[in-house]
Amino acid sequence: MNANWLDFGAGAHALLGGSNIGVIACGERAIMVDAGLDRSVSKKALRQIEAQGAHLEALVITHGHADHFGGAGWLGERGIPIYAPALEGVFAKHPLLEPLFLYGGAAPIKELQGKFTLAQELVPRIEAIAPGALTLAGLELHLIPLPGHAPAQLGVAYGDVLYCGDVVFPEETLARHPILFCADLDAWLETLTGLSDLPYTHFVPGHGEPVQAIATLAEANAARLREIRDQAWEALAEHHESAAVLRAVAAHFDVTFAAPQFYLLALTTIHAALTSLQRAGAAAVEMEENRMVWRRN
Ligand SMILES: [Zn+2]
Repeated sequence: MNANWLDFGAGAHALLGGSNIGVIACGERAIMVDAGLDRSVSKKALRQIEAQGAHLEALVITHGHADHFGGAGWLGERGIPIYAPALEGVFAKHPLLEPLFLYGGAAPIKELQGKFTLAQELVPRIEAIAPGALTLAGLELHLIPLPGHAPAQLGVAYGDVLYCGDVVFPEETLARHPILFCADLDAWLETLTGLSDLPYTHFVPGHGEPVQAIATLAEANAARLREIRDQAWEALAEHHESAAVLRAVAAHFDVTFAAPQFYLLALTTIHAALTSLQRAGAAAVEMEENRMVWRRN
């Protein structure tokens, strides 16, 4: 048996890897939550399902990042129905959107075309799902809104287990990549506040080990997001373009970006932090000699 294959009881499993995959198998019917980075990962998960004597009947994608849906195209080719939140599914249907977004809407540089940011296979058909109850393959699921890291991320709950996508990152990731990828900082903080009140006994994040109590990890992630936002505000002691704010925040966390894709991922987070400051009335943006600069209010 694969050492990365966990059994939570009552049919809930996870295959741990670079990106974790959830497997819910009850009798002969199974569904998968997220598909991993590429087809080799989804193949591994499918083999585990078949070893349980079950048949994969659906895939649910938590959010539209290539490391979570890269393996979905291969499952789609095999006729497996694929589900995702409407806004997130668009990225799986058109993988170019992710590097396009990261590059401000322009044709992406080659550094953004690796499989972590550009899935190699597209998913031609995706059914949109929304928060609430959903029965798939005879399994009763609850879809929980977890926006922030991605704009419309959904968690998939089955029994006592919540497959929660990238709503929290493990401590090792917080240490290794201090500037977490973030689309909406306020939404993420709100999501994290509500997370520990959710009635689940196992939380399976997209990366790292599952945890039984999420409060500590949720608070560590929230503290990091607040620190990023505070440091962005500190940088606005002088008027700055967002790139200069990123340099200041990176210096605070002692981060050196090794490649443009890491810089661009972190720049998105800085944009999210600046939007959050603007919403709070703490900062404003204006044009200054053809520079788009941020200042404190
Ligand atoms: Zn993600």
